[in-house]
Amino acid sequence: MSKFIRRLTKKTTSSQCTHLASIQTVTPSSEGCFECLQTGDTWVHLRLCLTCGHVGCCDDSKNRHARKHADASGHPIIRSFEPGENWMWCYVDQTYVKPDPSMRAGES
Ligand SMILES: [Zn+2]
Ligand SMILES: [Zn+2]
Ligand SMILES: [Zn+2]
Repeated sequence: MSKFIRRLTKKTTSSQCTHLASIQTVTPSSEGCFECLQTGDTWVHLRLCLTCGHVGCCDDSKNRHARKHADASGHPIIRSFEPGENWMWCYVDQTYVKPDPSMRAGES
C-alpha cells in the first residue's frame, strides 16, 4: 500500500519544464534590451534568453521584447538579467525552471 501512495505522489509533482536541453552557455547580446536600445525606448526589467543570449525587456515593460523574442524564435527559457537575480522562467510551460542538480556546479 505504501508503495502505491509513493508512486501517486511522484506523478502529481512532476509538472515541470521539459525544455532544459535548450539552455546553453550564452553571451548577453547587449547591456540593455536589444530592441529598445535601437529605438531609444525604455524598459523596466531585463530578461536573458538562455538559448541565444538575446537580452529583452520583461512583461512589465511596454514593449515586452523578451516574450516577443521567445514567440518569434521558439527559445522557451529566459533568465532574469537583473543584478542578484538568477531565477529562470519557461514561456512555453509558464513555470519557473528548476535546474538539474547536476547543472548547479559552482553555484553558491
Ligand atoms: Zn519548458
Ligand atoms: Zn525592449
Ligand atoms: Zn533566443
